[in-house]
Amino acid sequence: MNYTKFPRRGYLQGATPIEPMTKLSKALGMDVNLYVKRDDLLPGASGGNKTRKLDFCIADALTKGADTIITCGAVQSNHCRLTASWSAKEGLECHLVLEERVKGSYKEDGSGNNFLFELLGVKSKRVVPGGSDMMAEMEKTAEELKENGKKPYIIPGGASNPIGAMGYAVCAEETMAQLNEMRLQIDHIIVPSGSAGTHAGMAVGMTGTNANIPISGMNVSRPKDVQEEIVYNLAAQTADMLGVKSGVARNDIVCYADYVGPGYSIPTESMIEAVKLFAGEEAILLDPVYSGKAAAGLIDLVRKGEFAKGANVLFLHTGGSPALYAYLDTFRS
Ligand SMILES: *Cc1c(COP(=O)(O)O)cnc(C)c1O
Repeated sequence: MNYTKFPRRGYLQGATPIEPMTKLSKALGMDVNLYVKRDDLLPGASGGNKTRKLDFCIADALTKGADTIITCGAVQSNHCRLTASWSAKEGLECHLVLEERVKGSYKEDGSGNNFLFELLGVKSKRVVPGGSDMMAEMEKTAEELKENGKKPYIIPGGASNPIGAMGYAVCAEETMAQLNEMRLQIDHIIVPSGSAGTHAGMAVGMTGTNANIPISGMNVSRPKDVQEEIVYNLAAQTADMLGVKSGVARNDIVCYADYVGPGYSIPTESMIEAVKLFAGEEAILLDPVYSGKAAAGLIDLVRKGEFAKGANVLFLHTGGSPALYAYLDTFRS
């Protein structure tokens, strides 16, 4: 793939590790070999997947002369934390619009990512009710800032537009280069599927490199069909932007909605088990909202015998561990 015509800041410091999860694989007792791609270790305060997307999005903002970034997310948004993080590094103002998706979940003095927003110097935070038109809300903030002489740039939720999704096409290519170097044949890849840029970008990158490795997305909020359509549309636009002539096949976009539970960010028993297993067996910290539910899906598919004996399965760890500290009671009880 050729990324050279797209501005990019260079936030990555080489490839994130791919590690075997030998103890966890053994604990599941199904003769499936689990591996993890450690995007939780990406640069940016506390790491995580949004750094790859912001590498392109913030470069675009700077190219367009912005001095201020506006973005949005849920009350414990990792994307907002990383946008604040890179904005701080770049000397850009950062303004957040937070969507209270679960009524009463916003706490002014909340822990986890909410605490880090303050520490990372976010200029303003505005909380709006769940279901609000977030783009319209961010445009409102942009108008106010423009009246005060600022040059704001809006990054959509999760940085999931084609510019941001390119960051995960990069990740797919990086992963293939590592697997070829390691001579490690992976049979299946599991990714979380939220605002969809991660899943869509991976699908584009894997298609563009002719990797022929199936990818399954684990939903964190939406029904299967709805999420697959969102991922597919974003993948199609991203493939188009990168000149992937074949496009992405609709059949290659597969999502599972079985591990969402009662809703976005609401804890489930299987998420709690997954977080405890990854911590106890591999000393890897997941998060309650994304990677914990995605890992719950991975574990369930392994136990149900969805993967052949001896199969090698790669889990993309997208980060998010600061949110754990906003869920202490969930894990202690
Ligand atoms: C945003 C996020 C995801 C989901 O990625 P999308 O590109 O929004 O689908 C997964 N894990 C963590 C920790 C995240 O913050």
